[in-house]
Amino acid sequence: MARDTGSQCKQCRREGQKLFLKGERCLTDKCGVERRSYPPGEHGRGRQKQSEYRVQLREKQKAKRYYGVLERQFRIYYAKASRQQGVTGENLLRMLECRFDNVLVRLGFAASRRQARQLILHGHWTVNGRRVNIPSYQLRDSDVVAIHAASSAGQVIRDATELTGQVPAWLQADHDSLTAKVLRRPERREIAAPVQEQLIVELFSK
Ligand code: SF4
Repeated sequence: MARDTGSQCKQCRREGQKLFLKGERCLTDKCGVERRSYPPGEHGRGRQKQSEYRVQLREKQKAKRYYGVLERQFRIYYAKASRQQGVTGENLLRMLECRFDNVLVRLGFAASRRQARQLILHGHWTVNGRRVNIPSYQLRDSDVVAIHAASSAGQVIRDATELTGQVPAWLQADHDSLTAKVLRRPERREIAAPVQEQLIVELFSK
């Protein structure tokens, strides 16, 4: 399965803000953005020419990087979002937010999306009692997420729960039994992604 293996801190520096891609390290002064608050590369400290297209493009890149999605997959999400009823940008964010790997992060069961993907791929999680090893799996209302009975990752997951702030209201988590439930799909105001989805819609509408 294709995935982005590049430096995650460079991705944050390129977008000019912390995207919290590395779990605990992002909360320390080792954070790449804290140490070097300019874009990576030879011309990183030079003046960047701004244009409408550039702003829209960067917003799309930021959304992809935040959710750990590659270009092709992102365009598939956009195509699905534009066919759904409602606001396309919100539909897009809702689909990204309901990915299994993202939900594990929101629940506090993984310190980063990369860690969540690994835990899912290695079969440590079940949905409604069945093992699911697809990070992009879309969770739906009333789905029950639980650690697999034979999983050896309990301690790693418990360590991740220590980093968690508040679990969003559309999810319910039990950090003792490592189980959770999706109460409903999230409203836009409940999606804490640092993304202005309207700019992405404008980019794809050109
Ligand atoms: Fe981004 Fe985290 Fe690296 Fe900071 S430590 S630059 S937030 S990935």
